Amino acid sequence: MTTEQQRKDPNDRIELSLAPKNYDASKNVKFERKEIRPKDLEQTLKSYNYSLIKWKDGIRDGANYQFSDGFTIDIDQGLPIPDAETRLKSQNLNYFLIPSKSHTPEHHKYHILIFFSYPVYIKKAYKKMAEHIITDLFPECDPAVKDASRFIFGSPDNVIVSAYFQGENFDVLEHGAIWDNSLALTKSSGNAIYPTQIDKKTSIYCPFHQDNTPSAFVNHSKKSKNWYISCSACDQTFWMERPEFEQRCDPYWSYGKDVFELGIVNEEFFIEKIGKAKFHVLTKTHYSSEEKAAAFEYLVDNKHISHISRIDYLGDIETEESYYRVILEKGIIEAHHTPLPSVDQDNSFIERYLEDRFRQYKDFIKEYLAVFCYTNHQKLPTLILKGPRGNGKSTFAEIVGEIYRPLTFEWQGHEENFTYEVEKKLLIVEENESTKMSQYKTLKKYSGQKYAMVNKKFKDPYKIRNNMNIIMLTNEVIPLYVSREEQPKDEFNNQFFVYEFPEIKPPMDPQIQNRILKRLGHYIRTELRTVFNNITDSGYRYSIRVPITDAEKSLFVDNVTDLEADTDRYLQHLILNHSEKQDGQYSDFIEKGYLPTKFFRDIQAKTHYNRVIKNLKKRGFLTGEQMRFQINERREYCFEITQKLKDEINKAKSECL
Ligand SMILES: [Zn+2]
Repeated sequence: MTTEQQRKDPNDRIELSLAPKNYDASKNVKFERKEIRPKDLEQTLKSYNYSLIKWKDGIRDGANYQFSDGFTIDIDQGLPIPDAETRLKSQNLNYFLIPSKSHTPEHHKYHILIFFSYPVYIKKAYKKMAEHIITDLFPECDPAVKDASRFIFGSPDNVIVSAYFQGENFDVLEHGAIWDNSLALTKSSGNAIYPTQIDKKTSIYCPFHQDNTPSAFVNHSKKSKNWYISCSACDQTFWMERPEFEQRCDPYWSYGKDVFELGIVNEEFFIEKIGKAKFHVLTKTHYSSEEKAAAFEYLVDNKHISHISRIDYLGDIETEESYYRVILEKGIIEAHHTPLPSVDQDNSFIERYLEDRFRQYKDFIKEYLAVFCYTNHQKLPTLILKGPRGNGKSTFAEIVGEIYRPLTFEWQGHEENFTYEVEKKLLIVEENESTKMSQYKTLKKYSGQKYAMVNKKFKDPYKIRNNMNIIMLTNEVIPLYVSREEQPKDEFNNQFFVYEFPEIKPPMDPQIQNRILKRLGHYIRTELRTVFNNITDSGYRYSIRVPITDAEKSLFVDNVTDLEADTDRYLQHLILNHSEKQDGQYSDFIEKGYLPTKFFRDIQAKTHYNRVIKNLKKRGFLTGEQMRFQINERREYCFEITQKLKDEINKAKSECL
C-alpha cells in the first residue's frame, strides 16, 4: 500500500498479486502478493499474470476480496492508444499503459493500470470505483473487468509501454466509504481489533498507508453514530461504511408497542412517539411490504428499548456538539449538552470580573463553577446572592445559566402540575414574597432528593437523576429558604454560600454580560479545567470548601430574633404539616378557618406562645381575639385565620396533590 505522494517517488513500491505467466485462465488460482518498484513494473507485467486486487491467502475468488490498490482498464474495441493517453492526461491521472498479447498496430488492445489514492477495502466500493472509471473515462472498456476476481494476462516481451506518474491517483474518497466493520485494525500493542469493539479513541497502525508507527486512531463519533479512522500521516479522516438504510433509522427506536423518535433540536434533547406508519415514511421504507418488514425487524432487533428507567440530562464539557445515547442494557438515556461555545480567548477579563464581584471569595466561586462545568450529579452549595437591584447578582446568575443554557431554568417558585424544572442542572430562583412558603417547601424537596419524576404536558411522567443546583436571588434580609436549624458549623458541611454583592463602581458597562459570554467558553475549557483538576476530595459535603461569610453568619444569628424564628417554626409546622395531612388533630378547625390555641402548646419553643401569637397577628396571619368555637362536638379556644395564611396553606396543599 502506498500513498499518493509516495507513488510519485520512482523508488517507491507498488503492490501486485502475481502468478506465473500463462494463458490458461483455469490455472490462475493462487496469487502471491509482491511489492515492486515502478521502474520494474514493465518487466513484471511482461513476466507474470497480475492484479491490483489482494485476495485472502492469495486464492483468487470474488469472495476473497480484501482490498485493491487500483483498477485495470481493459480496452480491446479499438480505441487508439494516443486517444487514451490524451484522455488520461486531461484528467491528470497517474497510469501505466501496456499493450496486451492480441495487440496489433492496426487494432489496439491494451491495459491501463489506474492507482487508487487509498486502498479500497470494500468489494462493493471497489466495484463502484470501477463503475465510475468506466462510465466517466473509458466507456470503451470491457465491463467484465469490474469483477472482483479479475486478473490480467501478462503481456508479450516486445510491446511498448507508456506511463505517467507526475499526476494524481484516482480519488476514491470522493465516491464514499472505503472500509467497513469487517476490517481488522492493528492496535499499537500489535493486537487486532474490529471497529465495532471500540468505543473510545484507540491508537492504531493506519491501514491506508505503509505505517511503521501507529500514526492513526480509530474512534466512534456519537454525533454521526459511526466509526472513523483519522491518520496524521495521511492527513485524512476515513469514515466507515454503514448501510444506507441503517443510517436512515438512526433517529428511531422501538419502545413498548411503538416507534419513538429521539434527537436534539435547538440543543435540547427530545423524545416523541411517532408510530410505525410515520417511521416507514420517514425512513423511506414504505414502498413495499418487504422493505417495511426489514426496517421494522432491524429496529426491533437492534434498537429496542425494553424499559426507560431514567433520562440523565448532563452537561458535558468534553463534547463539541450535543448528542444523546441510549444504554440499552440499563434502559438509561443520556442527553449530553455542550457548553457555550468558545469565541474569544481572554481569561484575564473573566478573572477581573470575578475579582470585582466576589473579592476574597473569587477562588471559591471559581471552584464552584469548575465543579458545575465538569461534573454532574455532584452536590454543590446553594448560592444565596443578596442585595439591592443593580449590583449585578442577576447578571452573574444569568452568566452561569448560559454555560449549559438548555439545562437552566428560571423558576418562579411554584411547583406546578408540570415540572419542567426538575430535569435541569441549574435553577435560578428569584425569591418572591408571595410564594415564599411553597417555594421553600419545593426547594427543600428538590435539594434533598436523588431522583425525581418529570411531568410534562402530553407526556408520560419519567424519572430523572437529580442534577439540580440552585442560585437564589433575594432582596430580603432573611431568605426563608434558610432555617435556623441549618446553621453550618464548619466549611466542610456548609450548604450555603451567602453573599451580598458590592456596589458596582461607575461607569457601569451595559455590555458586560455579552463581553463575558464571549470569553467564558474559553475560560471554562482552560482555566476552570486547571481549577477542577486541582480540587482535592477532602470530605467536603458539598464538593468544595464553602466559606461561612459574614452575610451567612448574620443570616443565621444577628438578624433573626428568637421570636421571629420561633414564629417561623410555628408557621412552617402549620403550613407544611397541615398540607401533608400529618396533623389531622386540628384539621377540622383549620379547614373552617380557625386555629386552636392548643396547637401552640404542642410545639417546643423558647418563646412563650402568647408572644408568637402576637407576632403572627402583627404579620397578618391571625386576626381577632381568642374565642371558643365548636366543630364536630369539640370545643376549642381559637384564633381566626386570615386569608393570607389560608392562601399559604392552600398553596402548600395543592403541591402535595
Ligand atoms: Zn495513514
